[in-house]
Amino acid sequence: MPSITNHLPTAELQALDSAHHMHPFTTNDELTQKGARVITRAKGIYLTDSEGNEILDAMAGLWCVNLGYGREEMGQVAARQMNELPYYNTFFQTTHVPAIALAKELADLAPGDLNYVFFAGSGSEANDTNLRMVRTYWAQKGKPEKSHVISRKNAYHGSSVGSASLGGMTPMHEQGGLPIPGIHHIGQPDWWAEGGDQSPEEFGLARARELEDKILELGADNVAAFIGEPIQGAGGVVIPPSTYWPEIQRICDKHDVLLIADEVICGFGRTGNWFGSQTMGIKPHIMTIAKGLSSGYAPIGGSIVCDEVAEVINACEFNHGYTYSGHPVCAAVALENLRIMQEENIIDHVQNVAAPALQEALNKLGEHPLVGGVNVSGLMASLPLTPHKESRAKFASDAGTAGYLCREHCFANNLVMRHVGDRMIISPPLIITPEEIAIFADRATRALDATYADLK
Ligand code: PLP
Repeated sequence: MPSITNHLPTAELQALDSAHHMHPFTTNDELTQKGARVITRAKGIYLTDSEGNEILDAMAGLWCVNLGYGREEMGQVAARQMNELPYYNTFFQTTHVPAIALAKELADLAPGDLNYVFFAGSGSEANDTNLRMVRTYWAQKGKPEKSHVISRKNAYHGSSVGSASLGGMTPMHEQGGLPIPGIHHIGQPDWWAEGGDQSPEEFGLARARELEDKILELGADNVAAFIGEPIQGAGGVVIPPSTYWPEIQRICDKHDVLLIADEVICGFGRTGNWFGSQTMGIKPHIMTIAKGLSSGYAPIGGSIVCDEVAEVINACEFNHGYTYSGHPVCAAVALENLRIMQEENIIDHVQNVAAPALQEALNKLGEHPLVGGVNVSGLMASLPLTPHKESRAKFASDAGTAGYLCREHCFANNLVMRHVGDRMIISPPLIITPEEIAIFADRATRALDATYADLK
């Protein structure tokens, strides 16, 4: 085997990478022309690349490294579990302690009667579980035709065939014949981009009522569930107006439609509560979890399911599962993550220390001539870039160019901010301190200034 290590020159690693490694959501031109940035190690909120740059990761990886990088306890727990029981499955009447303990812990943390957990290896897999579970639930209750699922345009629920169909991303639907039948998309509650002259409250109600229109069009007897992220993440950190979720809840209750809250980003403290459903006042039947469940240290996801749905599903054999459902090493790592979060009062730190500091920093960034507004909940935020603040105008042509330029200037200033079109996204590790937020704001200002100069 060739010895490919951190010691190889960056250009050599990049050439090997583009020759053999297919990257998600990336064009090969980007890889061959510029080369991928090679990340070699990380600690706290900082990444180190192969050139020795220290980069502030204001995205927590992909919204997941909530505890920050380099927590040695997590590695120790993984090693211990690998030595004791590296693998066993949870099929066919077998189980193991890490899966039992994690399911119990999640049932304790989750609100209301969300007392059961079905494990998966990722958020995508968990949403595929949800799709099959809600259809099976209604079929078991003698209503097999109650099978359609309603989601939103510009939602992100994963990349597998089922979860990408649940998502509402046009570029994803354009590849591979998606969405699969039986999935429908209503408008998203993005007041900043689509609210026009309506007040946020009017717009929130109008968008929620699209759900009722769609249920009536399909017939309530044909609709199994509605799925939504409490706050859309990959869609650009879309924080719904205050009127939106209460109306969605009312409509789901009235028409006997199950409510699935996709907590893959919002869960585990991101919005200042354990779950985004608590922040937005939602009472879901199922919550999708992944990412922050293990702070990204091990691949694990799942569905936390309410008593009523779980009891119906448990009464039959649910012919569904993954080799790695409840994987003992991943479960042990997730448990350790949750232990540290509780022992170190991370939720309290987000609520009382980090979120207020981020809000203040973003308010200042919001005064920049290129920034059209500030969307923030806890430690999840976006800054929409605009050519004209007052009218919330979009850039007339080349949508995404300003965001792309800004992302590149962030890189040049040793900062990771992702762009979704012309929105800059911020989702740092939850352990970030006010001092580190000040460093973030300084680098972000420099990137915004440079982008502004380019666009003039
Ligand atoms: N759901 C949401 C809300 C997400 O943001 C993501 C990933 O970003 C997923 C589901 C899919 O999770 P995974 O990438 O672990 O499959």
